[in-house]
Amino acid sequence: MGNPLRQRLTATKFASVGQVIEISEEVSSFDSLSEIVEADLAALEADKIPPAWRESVVRGELQFGFVAAAGNVPTMSGQVRVELDAVCQRCLEPFRQRLEIEPRLLLLNAHESVAEFDDYEIWELDEDTLRPLDIVEELLIMAMPFSAMHDNMADCKAFSAAIENVTEIRRPFAALAAQMKQVEKDPDV
Ligand SMILES: [Zn+2]
Repeated sequence: MGNPLRQRLTATKFASVGQVIEISEEVSSFDSLSEIVEADLAALEADKIPPAWRESVVRGELQFGFVAAAGNVPTMSGQVRVELDAVCQRCLEPFRQRLEIEPRLLLLNAHESVAEFDDYEIWELDEDTLRPLDIVEELLIMAMPFSAMHDNMADCKAFSAAIENVTEIRRPFAALAAQMKQVEKDPDV
């Protein structure tokens, strides 16, 4: 038996055995996610690209089951988290971006429909079978912010640069004050 994260089965098959999947996979296992991270980091100078970005570990757990009340629809729920290397769009420096997802999905085939149920979201499958890894990857990509930025202002170089600019702005007033003092001392200037 291989890793169930990579198995391709129907949602009903995963649900009928109550499949639980422990996830501990490097970012390099997720092709599309890797491509996005790589393209993002390409904005950095080569020596600033974190060398081990592909080795960040995606961790979490998935559980399959059924929601009887929604007409025995297969479900996938769980928690998955990862810290990805990213480029802050404010200061253009690399930083670690934390992503966390807590899916609660009703797994439906394209031709099926069901009323919204509880706090589950409807996830339409493109094919009759699914690979859990593909859903996790798609969810992580969807969770990526449109514009990645340092969460903490204190870590962001753009913010510290803004403080320096404020100091710059104050200087002309300081110079003016010094000039006025000079005038007081020597009214003929
Ligand atoms: Zn920043």
